[in-house]
This record gives sequence, structure tokens and C-alpha cells, in this order.
Amino acid sequence: MIISLIGGTGDLGRGLAFRLKLAGYNVVIGSRMKEKAEAIAEKCNDIVRKLGGDANIAGLSNENAAEISDISILTIPWKHVFETAEKLRDKLRNKIVVSPVVPMKLREGRYEYTPPEEGSAALKLAKILNESRIVVAFNNIPAKRFADTNEILDWDVIVCSDDDHAKKTVMEIVSNIKGLRALDGGSLKNSAIVEALTPLLINISRKNSLNDACIKFV
Ligand code: NAP
Repeated sequence: MIISLIGGTGDLGRGLAFRLKLAGYNVVIGSRMKEKAEAIAEKCNDIVRKLGGDANIAGLSNENAAEISDISILTIPWKHVFETAEKLRDKLRNKIVVSPVVPMKLREGRYEYTPPEEGSAALKLAKILNESRIVVAFNNIPAKRFADTNEILDWDVIVCSDDDHAKKTVMEIVSNIKGLRALDGGSLKNSAIVEALTPLLINISRKNSLNDACIKFV
């Protein structure tokens, strides 16, 4: 199984790249610029090597990464992800597409959830990519901590989809990342609740001097 990280050169993409590789998956980093993807893939391979894994993460253009993969995770800021999804529509047809996307903005010192009129970023992606199988996951992961190799994870990841088989597949992938537990969050309708938790977590972290709070259900 090949997993691509579309726009995987950013904070969330880098953490996912080395952690998925250490979990045994074939990982491809995508970028608008192939050279940038190759450079970040090499940095992630250094991490994998240091941690004793098989370092063969590849860097490709977003188009090629989407084309060769079975599952694509759209690690692109919400303002640009919809346009990118339109461009990759054909390459992503019939495939599992994971949305960690959180639409939000900073207003008067606090983050606000700013969903599109469809109700959530995932619901808008489901409309654009209506021949793909959309799954919500990783939305509440604090990306800087996740990309830190010293961080020992013990976090939960809520996974939602209208496609039970796709949801099960992504839950298995999440659970294979050391320190993450996948929880079934129900249908894609719940994606708005999951996405909206992220600005809340950031605001709570800031107000209570926490180090990028994450989610653990006990
Ligand atoms: P980021 O670092 O700001 O950006 C990721 C990548 O997106 C960039 O490296 C860039 O890749 C690509 N990109 C930027 N502008 C673009 C454009 N106009 N068109 C196409 N691609 C563009 O993002 P991030 O913080 O990793 O977040 C990625 C996604 O995860 C977001 O949707 C965010 O809501 C979600 N998320 C983030 C966090 C977090 O803590 N950061 C937590 C949970 C969920 P190239 O230049 O290589 O093309």
C-alpha cells in the first residue's frame, strides 16, 4: 500500500511521513515542486534511518504522488486545499482521501472555526471529490509536537467517514503509528465537530499555558 502526503512538506506532512514509514508503509511526499519534496523526503529518511527504519520515502510532484498512491492525505492549508483537490480530482478517483484539514482564523487573539457553507472542510472535499472515499483523521494532532522525534505519543485520533471500509482501513493505519489510538467517530456529518475541536484545543493551550494540547479519551 502506498500512502501519499499531498503538500507533505509542511509540519503535519513531515511528522506523518517518518511515523508512517516507521509503521512499515510505503510513503511518498508530494509538493508543488518536486525538488522540494525530494529534499524533505531526504530529511525524513535521515530521521527514519536514525530510528532504525527502512529509509525509502520518495519525493514527487503532488500529481505524481496522487497518481501512484492508494491513499492520499491532504496536508495542505484549508485556504488552498479545495483548489488542489479540484486539480487532482482524476488522480484521486475511487481512492481513499484523508482530510486532516481544519478551516479556522485568528480573530482578536483567539482562533475561530470557519467552516465552508457545506458544513465542514471534509464535507466540501466530499463534494469536490465525489468519486473518492473521504475519511477524516489527524485533525486534532498538534503538528509541531508530532514532527518532534523526541515526543512520545499517547494520543487519540478520531476517524469519520461515510464509507465503512475506508474508515476501517484508515483506523488500522492510524493504530499502526506508535502511540496513536484510532477511535471511530461515526459518519462524515461529525467532521464539523472534529474539525472545530482544533481551534478550541489551541485556545485552551494558550489560555492555560499548555504545550499544544492534544486529545486522549479516558
Ligand atoms: P503548512 O505547513 O502551512 O503547509 C503544508 C504545505 O501546503 C506546504 O508545505 C506547501 O507545500 C503546501 N501549500 C502551501 N500553499 C499552497 C497552495 N497555495 N497550493 C497548494 N499547496 C500549498 O500546513 P500544516 O500546518 O502542515 O497543515 C496541513 C493541514 O493539516 C491543514 O489543512 C491544517 O488545517 C491541518 N492540521 C494542521 C495542524 C497543525 O498543527 N499544523 C494540526 C491539525 C491539522 P509545497 O510548497 O511543498 O507545495
